[in-house]
Amino acid sequence: GAGTSASSGVRFELEKETELRFEVESGEKVQLELLSGLAEVFGSELNRNKKYTFGPGSKIAVFTWQGCTVCLTGKTEVAYVSRDTPMLLYLNTHAALEQMRQQAERDNERGPRVMVVGPTDVGKSTVCRLLLSYAVRLGRRPTLVELDVGQSGVSVPGTVSALCIERPADVEEGFSVQAPLVYHFGSTTPGTNIKLYNKLTSCLAEVFSQRCEVNRKASVGGCVINTCGWVKGSGYQALVHCASAFEVDVVLVLDQERLYNELKRDLPHFVKVVLLPKSGGVVERSKACRRDTRDEKIREYFYGFRGVSFYPHAFDVRFSDVRIYKIGAPSIPDSCLPLGMSQDDTQLKLVPVTPGRDLTHHVLSVSCADDEGEGGAGGRRGVLESPVCGFIVVTAVDTQAQVMTVLSPAPRPLPRHTLLIMDIRFIDLK
Ligand code: ATP
Repeated sequence: GAGTSASSGVRFELEKETELRFEVESGEKVQLELLSGLAEVFGSELNRNKKYTFGPGSKIAVFTWQGCTVCLTGKTEVAYVSRDTPMLLYLNTHAALEQMRQQAERDNERGPRVMVVGPTDVGKSTVCRLLLSYAVRLGRRPTLVELDVGQSGVSVPGTVSALCIERPADVEEGFSVQAPLVYHFGSTTPGTNIKLYNKLTSCLAEVFSQRCEVNRKASVGGCVINTCGWVKGSGYQALVHCASAFEVDVVLVLDQERLYNELKRDLPHFVKVVLLPKSGGVVERSKACRRDTRDEKIREYFYGFRGVSFYPHAFDVRFSDVRIYKIGAPSIPDSCLPLGMSQDDTQLKLVPVTPGRDLTHHVLSVSCADDEGEGGAGGRRGVLESPVCGFIVVTAVDTQAQVMTVLSPAPRPLPRHTLLIMDIRFIDLK
């Protein structure tokens, strides 16, 4: 096919139901333009004669139902056309979900709650995006529930979140993330604190259900839940827990028959478990690549994304003005636990952190929890279940002066004083 070309564009004629897949080389960017026909990128339609820019490392598929001509400019690592895609199956899945929404509308019931599962690198996030964009294009208002703490599409890594989808994903930037509901988890894998992970899943389910009770459109729209690629042991149990917390109606299993059979066996019979193939276009991502994506996500939070630049603030925060906690004490053998205490208690415990030099570069969540309500037993529980109102990064610590310098999206003072520490670090190179 068409090779790499530095400056002049390469044209691709796509027949109907085929897709052009390309990857952008590191340090490069690629422009995509639709010259004729109709095409979409992960469920979002392309405008004709508009240049879309994709940054280094992007892995994109331009799919056409009807046939089209597109042009790529810039250095691609690969660029090829494939006629072997599962898009028709994905579209049928969307059609089935839409039927459920129509029925929900008629019978005054709730719309489909869908959980998307599968191992890493099978295109879970992409399928979620596709289904949500198709639904919103039909005027629905579905909710995206993001439980992938490693590669969140909504907020910074180390969080779980929910987002009402009001328009299709932007071709270049994905879903607009104004006002998501975000909870602090604190690390990039559920395994570091599975109790907390399950608890946050329950929290999100409860908030979503409450919203459905007062918002008919949200209820009919249902939700699409993106999960982590960890599908064994406690990871599997977390999926089962999620299915029950959200009372899901449909589970889409990507590419793993074993997982499909296990879920069919373990979930109630009225849950529709569907096995779907993964797209051959989904590219495996290395550990380093995932780390870069996470880093980029945090950078975006502070500095914005291409067109929109943010100007974060740097200021000093006195240790005495904040309370920093880590959620979960290191686990201790059962035999050493104080009488009447269980492992659950230690995993959900708020452990005060004494500020020191080792805080440097850590990402901290600013909890929405009431500063007053804190301290008492009731207040403490409240912190876990409170959403996060933003994030800061510690850029320096002065133990002598008892202050730390932070990078913050908003000027001082901090809106709240309860901070939760993440395992995740961010080195601000700007
Ligand atoms: P994770 O393991 O992080 O949960 P995932 O299963 O959610 O991954 P995605 O993030 O959806 O996988 O996809 C992985 C990568 O493959 C993404 O960069 C995505 O843009 C790309 N991708 C998905 N589908 C295609 C396709 N058909 N052609 C080319 N690239 C694709």
